Amino acid sequence: MLPIDGDIFDCIQRGNIDQCAHFIQHDRSILKEKGWGGFTPLHFAALQGNRSIVNLLLSNGADPNLTCDAGMTAFHLACRHGNVYVMHQIMQHGADLRMVDHQGKTALHHGVSGGNIVAMQYLWETGMFRWCDGDMYNVTPLHLAADAGNTEVVRYLLRNKRCMVETVDEDGLTAVHVASERGCIEMCWTLLQRSGFRILHLKTYSGHTPLDLCRQGRTFRHLQLAKLLTRYMKEPPFSKPDESPILYYWTLFFPCLIGGVILIIAAMLGGYGGITCAVLFPWLARSIFSQFHRMTTYQRLANPVYLGTMIAGLFHSLVCFYYKILPPSLWGDSVLGHVSLVQFSMVLAMFWKILTQDPGELGPGDADPRYSSIADLLEKKQNPQRFCIYCELFQPDHTKHCKLCDVCVRDYDHHCLFLNRCVGRGNHRLFIIFILSMAAAHLLFVAAAIYHLYVVVVSLEDQSLVRAVAAQFWVVTLTIMNALTILWEAWLLTEQFDAIAMGTTTYFKPTCETRQRSLGHRWTTVLTFLLEGRRRLDYGQTEDNSSIDI
Ligand SMILES: [Zn+2]
Ligand SMILES: [Zn+2]
Repeated sequence: MLPIDGDIFDCIQRGNIDQCAHFIQHDRSILKEKGWGGFTPLHFAALQGNRSIVNLLLSNGADPNLTCDAGMTAFHLACRHGNVYVMHQIMQHGADLRMVDHQGKTALHHGVSGGNIVAMQYLWETGMFRWCDGDMYNVTPLHLAADAGNTEVVRYLLRNKRCMVETVDEDGLTAVHVASERGCIEMCWTLLQRSGFRILHLKTYSGHTPLDLCRQGRTFRHLQLAKLLTRYMKEPPFSKPDESPILYYWTLFFPCLIGGVILIIAAMLGGYGGITCAVLFPWLARSIFSQFHRMTTYQRLANPVYLGTMIAGLFHSLVCFYYKILPPSLWGDSVLGHVSLVQFSMVLAMFWKILTQDPGELGPGDADPRYSSIADLLEKKQNPQRFCIYCELFQPDHTKHCKLCDVCVRDYDHHCLFLNRCVGRGNHRLFIIFILSMAAAHLLFVAAAIYHLYVVVVSLEDQSLVRAVAAQFWVVTLTIMNALTILWEAWLLTEQFDAIAMGTTTYFKPTCETRQRSLGHRWTTVLTFLLEGRRRLDYGQTEDNSSIDI
C-alpha cells in the first residue's frame, strides 16, 4: 500500500475508493468523525455525489441520520446534489425522511435547491412530502426555485397545481417578488401566466410590489423586466400574458415578404438588379440564420422563420418558374408544363401533409407500462432519464422529448426547423419521400432555368453577355438558391439513408454489429422502409441500458 496523503476527507475529494477502504479497515470510528462544518465522511461523499464511496461507507455501517452543524443529514446533501442513485442508496440504508435541518428545510426543499426534477419526483413518490410545505421562514419549494433562477423547476412545480403562486413567506414575498428581485424575465412571465397580473399589485410586508423590487437591480435584465412589468401593471388584473400571434405570423412571412421586396427593388433598378440581389439576399440569409430557436427570450413559441424560409423558397420558385422560365403561353402546351404541374402539385400536397401529420407523439396512454416510479427504474437498472420531466411519463424505448414541440416523440429522428415539426415514427417515411420529391423538383427547376438562360445567351445580338445575364437576376438568384438547396438535400438524404440502412434513426446510434452490414443488406433495409414503412428495430444499446450518473 502506498503511503496515504491527508485524511479520509481528502480521499473522498479525490474519489480514491481504495484509500477510503483502507482508512475504514484501520479504524471504523472514522465513519462518525466530523470534519469541516460538522460533515461526516458520508455527508461529504453524498455532497460529491460519489456513488461508489457512498456505497462503501453505508455498507460499513455509516449512520445516514447523523447531522452536520447546520442540522443537515447526508440524505439532505444527496438531494441537493441531485444524484438519485445516491439518494436511493441512502434511503435503503434507513435515512429518516422526516428529519429537517436547523432552518426547518426538508429533503424536498434541498432537492428543489439542487434543481434536479427527477430527484424531486423521486422524493414526491415516497409520499412523505407536500409541495406547499414551507420551512421555518415559510419559504416554499416555489420560492426556492425562483431564487435559484431555475425556470424548468418552476414549470414543474406549477404543473398539476403542485404549488400556488400566491403563497407568501414570512416577509410577504411571493415567488413573483423573488423572481423580479433577481431579474428573471422568463420566470416572471411563466409565473404570471399562471397567476394573472393581479399578483403584481401584491405588496410585501415592507410595502414593495414586484416592480419595486425589480427596480432595485441595475443590470440589463432588471431594466428589461422593469419595462415589461410596468406595461403589465396597466393591464386588467385578471388577464394573463399571451404568446403574440402577430409577432409569430410576421416572423413566418418575413422571408417571403422581404424576398419579394428585394426582387421588386431589383426590377426597378433595371441594369443594377443583379448587384442589388447579390448584396441584399446574403443580408436576408444572414438575418434569418442568425435567429434563435424560440421567438423571444421568455415566450415559448418556436421561431417559425425557417419554415417561413421554406415557404418563401417554394412560393418565389413557383412564381419565377411559371412567369419567367415557362411563359404563360406554354403552360398547357409543353411537356415541361405538364411534368412540372404534376411534380410541383405533389410537393405542395406532401408539404401540407407533413405539416399536419402526427410525428409520433407520445400520449399519456402510451407510457411504458413496465415502469411505475423512479425507484422502480433504479431497481431495474434503467436510466432515470427515461422519466420525461416535461410530459411526466415513462418513455418507451427510442423515445425522446422535443423541447420545441414540447412532446415526447417515438423513434425520434430530429426536429426539422424548416418544417417546424419533429420527424419521428409517424412521419419519417413521409419526410424521406418529401425530401426526394423536393430534390426532384429542384433539379427540374435548375435544369429548366439553365436552359432558359442558355436561350437568352444564344439569342444575344449586340447586347453584352454580362448585362443580359444581370437583367435575368430573378432567374439567376433563384437558380443559385435552388442549386445550393440540392447540395443540402443530397447531404440530408445521405445521412438519412445511412441511418435507415442500420435500422435506426439519426438520433439513436446503431450497434457495432449493424455497422458491418453488407451493401445489399443495407439497401434491402432502406427499400423495406420506403415501401412498407417498416423499420428493422436495431437500435444501439448505448442509449437505454447504461446507468448514467446524473
Ligand atoms: Zn416528453
Ligand atoms: Zn420538435
